[in-house]
Amino acid sequence: MKLNLTKILLIIGGAGLLGYGGYSYWQTSEENTARGAKITDLEQSLVKAGEENNNLLQALNTERSKTGAFEVKISELSSIVGNLQKWSATDPELLRKYSKVYFLSENYAPAQLSSLDPQYLYEKNRTQLIHSGVSGRLGSLLEAAKAEGMNLLILSAYRSFYEQASVKSGYSVTYGAGTSNQFSADQGYSEHQLGTAVDFSTLENGPTFSKFEQATAYKWLTDNAYKFGFALSYPKNNLYYKFEPWHWRFVGVALAKYLHDQSKSFYDLTQRELDDYLITIFN
Ligand SMILES: [Zn+2]
Repeated sequence: MKLNLTKILLIIGGAGLLGYGGYSYWQTSEENTARGAKITDLEQSLVKAGEENNNLLQALNTERSKTGAFEVKISELSSIVGNLQKWSATDPELLRKYSKVYFLSENYAPAQLSSLDPQYLYEKNRTQLIHSGVSGRLGSLLEAAKAEGMNLLILSAYRSFYEQASVKSGYSVTYGAGTSNQFSADQGYSEHQLGTAVDFSTLENGPTFSKFEQATAYKWLTDNAYKFGFALSYPKNNLYYKFEPWHWRFVGVALAKYLHDQSKSFYDLTQRELDDYLITIFN
């Protein structure tokens, strides 16, 4: 075999190239593997970071919903406090049933009284007072009645224990004690002492109550008074007094509407049922 130097050099050079090529191929594939591992690491880190993000997001949402629940609790509490304040500020006597066993003390007087507009008084020169919380509603009722051509007038509104006593003795002299007991409450039993009850009449009907049942104004009251929070205290066949079509008591719009819609009277309800309406009486 004849090998010249050039051939030998070519063979050595070729082998070197092959070796280098093999080496660099091996090196590149090593690097690729390392890169692949790095990418996998990075991907894993990303997934992990994503999971952490999710966890953080969940924690944030949990805190947010806790805060939300807390805010709801606070608003619930403040409405309870508001109702309690309203409750404690509302005179419980305003929806009490009066009877021979439960009556107002002679010292009881409404928190605040207002004078009624003389244009609505049967006797223009006599001051008539009404519970200040009721005066606006009564004014609206009288205006609405007037707008529909009714001549409603107030004969009597607030009466103190002593005024009630003198009214009663006046009736007793005129009608005799037996009859007056049927329609004029003994002092202390009267809803007039509350300042929330009114006796209506009309110009035509005058100061006597007898014909008020036939008055169109009475019909108007039975159809409309509840809208202003008034209810007839002593309807026909009640257990307390004789039928008093002229005597209406302010009980608040919600209760008056309930009584009207159910065809019930104030004294048909239990004291417990009535007390539920106390908090909203002036709404
Ligand atoms: Zn009355």
